[in-house]
Amino acid sequence: MVRLVRFSADLLDSLLEASRENHPNEFFTVLGGEVDGDEIVVDSVLVVPFEASDTGAVFDLMSVHLKGAVGTFHSHPSGDPAPSEDDLMLFKRLGAVHAIAAYPYRRRDVRFYDKSGRNITELVALADDR
Ligand SMILES: [Zn+2]
Repeated sequence: MVRLVRFSADLLDSLLEASRENHPNEFFTVLGGEVDGDEIVVDSVLVVPFEASDTGAVFDLMSVHLKGAVGTFHSHPSGDPAPSEDDLMLFKRLGAVHAIAAYPYRRRDVRFYDKSGRNITELVALADDR
């Protein structure tokens, strides 16, 4: 059970910026950081190795390279921050903290969910990097 999430403020701002740039398309990324018991630090975006010529790339992506994932971030251009059925399936697979940024992508438009889709926005503290 997640008790506290320290989410880098700079990281969140750059993810919101990317959401704006991709609008009206959805922006998705995998979050990296550290899990320490029931406390999670989110401070990076996982760079996913990708080889265009490798037909197994997608499989590798899901099964191997994302094992260090602490969660996901994606945008909802519709403006509704509620997770979809597909989102809930994804949450179960890719870490403990999942952010959905709804249009117009301000800090207060972001909701955070745990693996089971429970809203944990209250447990998230924005952390300054210094
Ligand atoms: Zn979604």
